[in-house]
Amino acid sequence: MSTNKRDNFSNPGLDPPPPPYSSSESSQSAPPNESTSLRSPNTKLYSATPNLIYSPPPLEQNVPIPKPLPCIFVEQSPVLLQDLRTEPCITSCPHCNQIVLSSTKYKSGSATYLTSLTLLVLGLTSWGCCLIPFCVNNLKDCIHSCPKCGKIMAKYSRIDGKVYKERE
Ligand SMILES: [Zn+2]
Repeated sequence: MSTNKRDNFSNPGLDPPPPPYSSSESSQSAPPNESTSLRSPNTKLYSATPNLIYSPPPLEQNVPIPKPLPCIFVEQSPVLLQDLRTEPCITSCPHCNQIVLSSTKYKSGSATYLTSLTLLVLGLTSWGCCLIPFCVNNLKDCIHSCPKCGKIMAKYSRIDGKVYKERE
């Protein structure tokens, strides 16, 4: 019974018949045919566009392929003798006047003796402690020598941070 009530309640809204569109539809359907017939040339143009598939611009085949650059080893500019520190550097030997990579050697210098003396004064009288500075390269002077002529070029002093040129 309840379903019948619902049907009766819902049907009245759907009952009104649609207005007679059939005549109007037939009248409206006719003009579009005319418009399509008029626009047919345009549609042909648009239909031709799909054939214009995008293609990348033609590459110039005559462009010469760049040759691979030769490996160029940039020579490090030689370091002046007064700029030498504790590491091997490329410098010009004052004896043989050649650009060489200096070979370094550590030698006890003023800083080494001063540190050892300081440890002695501070009461660390055991000999082992006083000799420690002689085993630490960071407390020694750095001597740069030429690997070609074997002569000493310069000495970097730890105590004052200066470079002393060896003249022979
Ligand atoms: Zn040399």
